[in-house]
Amino acid sequence: SLGITWTTDWIRQSARVVSEHRVELVTLDREIGDGDHGENLDRGYTAVLAKLDGLPPDSAPGDALKLVATTLISTVGGASGPLLGTAYLKAAGAVGQEKELDGAAIVALLTAARDGIVLRGKAEPGDKTMIDAWTPAVDAAAAALAEGKSEPEILDAAATAAEQGAVATEPLVARKGRASYLGERAIGHRDPGAQSSSLILRAAADAAA
Ligand code: ADP
Ligand code: MG
Ligand code: MG
Repeated sequence: SLGITWTTDWIRQSARVVSEHRVELVTLDREIGDGDHGENLDRGYTAVLAKLDGLPPDSAPGDALKLVATTLISTVGGASGPLLGTAYLKAAGAVGQEKELDGAAIVALLTAARDGIVLRGKAEPGDKTMIDAWTPAVDAAAAALAEGKSEPEILDAAATAAEQGAVATEPLVARKGRASYLGERAIGHRDPGAQSSSLILRAAADAAA
């Protein structure tokens, strides 16, 4: 099972990959948005890192996820802040005060995160948003759980599906967010939020490996 060490490793690795891919995310957002996605997330996760050291060592995974939620909501200007913030908030609610997360809890965490983004942003699969990374990730995680896979295998399946989902946004027309103003001109460009979500989900798998 995975506990607070996995959770904080996931958060730290998310901060690192967001920072490493800041320019790539800015470039994607410049093509179909306003060019700030990498900056938005880097600012948010940098603020998260500053607060993470203050987390008591006996905290539950849900406490760490809640800290990320409140920090992203208050520091990320842009659509992605409240969306990802709600994802972490609902993920925290799904695991409650459990200290050790088994495969079913991991799937519940990911499902609640995805549902939180949908609740907040009302996007459907195929709308060319971060949901197009999260929904295949949740489906793949649930399938891996049903096959009796371990927690690291469940997270690896989720990350791989998210990466494929992000690539699959390229031919789509956007129906939510700034990219929806572009109509057909969004075709051929990967959604920045789907790309960043695939990075965050890969970080979850790497932290468990
Ligand atoms: P902004 O568009 O305000 O500048 P960001 O650039 O940080 O915010 O985030 C843009 C990303 O947010 C998009 O690439 C998309 O994945 C995601 N997004 C925007 N609107 C929605 C929505 N309604 N539901 C889900 N995701 C959305
Ligand atoms: Mg933007
Ligand atoms: Mg913006």
